Amino acid sequence: MILEENTTEAEARAIELEDKYGAHNYHPLQVVIARGEGVFVWDVNDKKYFDFLSAYSAVNQGHCHPKIIGALTEQAQKLTLTSRAFYNDTLGEYEKFITEYFGFDKVLPMNSGVEAVETAIKLARKWGYQKKGIPADKAKIIFCENNFHGRTITIISASNDDVAIADFGPFTPGIETIPYNDAAALVEALKDDNVVAFIMEPIQGEAGVVVPHEGYLACCKAICKERNVLFIADEIQTGIARTGKLLACDYEGVKPDVLLLGKAISGGVLPVSAVLADDDVMMVIKPGEHGSTFGGNPLANKVAIAALEVVRDEKLAENAMKLGEILRGGLRSINSDMLLEVRGKGLLNAIVIKPKNGVDAMGLCIRMKERGLLAKPTHEDKIRFAPPLVITQEQIIECVQIIKDTIEAV
Ligand code: PLP
Repeated sequence: MILEENTTEAEARAIELEDKYGAHNYHPLQVVIARGEGVFVWDVNDKKYFDFLSAYSAVNQGHCHPKIIGALTEQAQKLTLTSRAFYNDTLGEYEKFITEYFGFDKVLPMNSGVEAVETAIKLARKWGYQKKGIPADKAKIIFCENNFHGRTITIISASNDDVAIADFGPFTPGIETIPYNDAAALVEALKDDNVVAFIMEPIQGEAGVVVPHEGYLACCKAICKERNVLFIADEIQTGIARTGKLLACDYEGVKPDVLLLGKAISGGVLPVSAVLADDDVMMVIKPGEHGSTFGGNPLANKVAIAALEVVRDEKLAENAMKLGEILRGGLRSINSDMLLEVRGKGLLNAIVIKPKNGVDAMGLCIRMKERGLLAKPTHEDKIRFAPPLVITQEQIIECVQIIKDTIEAV
């Protein structure tokens, strides 16, 4: 483990503990965060930073939002977990709230994002066999190339990222991938009568914020409808106001057949995810066929209600829309041949970097960290900029200046 220059003793202690006792399945930036509030985090030396990652868009409402933490601590003193073996007095309230909020008949509560995607696959297969009459074990699901939907075996079975899949086989069958942003490829794939669902991200987040051309989502939905295939939108990263609308699908007025949410549904407080669908689809799942000990737990229910209320009451989608424009405008004004592209929607953005003078995307992130802004490369040459949506116009302008100064100094 090579520590950066100027690493303090407190930082070294935390980093070395993780290095010695934790699995090495991440490669973090060398900053040790000890506290957070709103758009800011502080490290163990009490240095303050703008958080431009927001825990991969889980902290849309800002760190430790008082209303969400209030709901957490109040509920934590009453009841945390019952399992679904019994009813509890918060689940129905949450289910009514979230289904009305997003306009679906039913919700199936889970915990992590990847579990929501796994749930959607089970739901789609069952729906295919029971409602579409697909022959046993023949159901097929279409995904997009360069997707990211999580890390379980079934989900990486749909991945074409070598790092994610190498030496993890054998993989789950019944999965096919097509190019993203290519409606003709979807038409072709759906000629197979055994296809039950198309699962996609309305913007590919982990791939480096890849925004499809306008009309693609509506087109995909129409193609799926025509072929009686479920259109499943994974809005785990794009949803909950991140892209400037409540859902990225809202840009094209598309209602997915199945909607997947996670991350910011709890404001980054607890692992909470949700699968939303109408009765025709959701009711194919019967008691005992799917579940999770923690899914729909009282703590999660109260936290998620508070987190979604914050999004609505503080008009976070509107703020993300307005400040996203300012952010991209500012980034595009940076005068450097390092900056190949600026792209995104709302406050889900990325820049594509060409290395210069030995400084690559990771090198830039280290330099931005020194100037008080935390971001992380995705896929080597891209840096995602996704601050909490409670950020103000003044703060965005300050952050653009930090990014500009860092790049122009190289
Ligand atoms: N789907 C998308 C679009 C994601 O971006 C992610 C995580 O980044 C996931 C699913 C997986 O979520 P989790 O890490 O909570 O399992």
